[in-house]
Amino acid sequence: VKVLLTGTGAADGVPGYFSDSELSRFARRHGGKDVRLRSAALIDGVLKIDFGPDTFAQCAALGLSALEWKYIVFTHSHDDHFAPRELQYAFPPFLPPETPTPRVYGNQAILDGIGAAFEMAQNLEMTLTKSFEATKVGEYVLTPIRAYHKLDEDSQNLIIQKDGATFLYGTDTGIYQDETWEFLQGWQFDAAVMECTDGFKPLDYWGHLSCAELIDVITRLREMGCFSEKTYICTTHHAHTGMATHAQLEECLNPHGVDVGFDGKVFEL
Ligand SMILES: [Zn+2]
Ligand SMILES: [Zn+2]
Repeated sequence: VKVLLTGTGAADGVPGYFSDSELSRFARRHGGKDVRLRSAALIDGVLKIDFGPDTFAQCAALGLSALEWKYIVFTHSHDDHFAPRELQYAFPPFLPPETPTPRVYGNQAILDGIGAAFEMAQNLEMTLTKSFEATKVGEYVLTPIRAYHKLDEDSQNLIIQKDGATFLYGTDTGIYQDETWEFLQGWQFDAAVMECTDGFKPLDYWGHLSCAELIDVITRLREMGCFSEKTYICTTHHAHTGMATHAQLEECLNPHGVDVGFDGKVFEL
C-alpha cells in the first residue's frame, strides 16, 4: 500500500491566506516543505482521502489526474476537507457523459452536502459510512473510528486495510474519547498519519492536537500495542498558528519516532 500526502496544511493552509504571523512570513520567504496546502491523501493512486479546496492545485503540482481516482472517502465536512462543488468538473458540460466518476464514501453530512452541491451530483454513487462499522471500498476495507472533532456530525478518522496491511489516517481529531479508545483495543497498525495542527501553540479548541498532545496519543497507542517499534508514523494537518517550521517540528518529533509530513511525501506499507 502506497500513501501519498497531497496536502499537509490545516484550515487556511500555510502560509495562512490572510495571516501575517511569523510562520506565515517564514513560509512565504522559504517555500519548500513549509508551504502546506489543505490536508488530503491518496492511497495507491486510486483511493482519495478528502477532496478539499486545494485538490486542483495538488493535481497540478504533483502531476495527478483525478480521473484515476476510483473512490473518494471523506473524514468530515469542514471546508478544508470538503469542497463538493469541485466534483461538478467530472460531469457535463465540462466532460462527456461517459466519463467515469468516483464512488463517494462519507457520513450523512457529506452525502447531504454533495447531493445539494450541484444537479449532476445525483448521478454519483454514494455510500454512507459510520464510525466503528467496516465497509468494503473496492479491494480495501474501510473502518472509520470516531474523531473528537466536529461533534454535530459523525466525524471520522479512517482505518484502511489491504493485503494484510493496516493504516490509520488520523485527522482531524483531538484526544479520542473513551468509545474510540475501547474500539482501538486489539488493532495493530503498520503505519499512521496523525494530525499535529497546533504545533507548539495549543488553542482553546479541543478538536485538534499539539505536538505535546500528539506525543501523548502516540504513547498511549504504543502502550496499548496498537503501535509497535515497526509502525511508521508521520504527521499532517499543520496550522500556521502552531508557530512551528518544518525543521522545528522535526527537531521536536523525530526523537519520538515520528516523521514530519510535507506536501508530496510518499511512503509504503
Ligand atoms: Zn481540517
Ligand atoms: Zn476539521
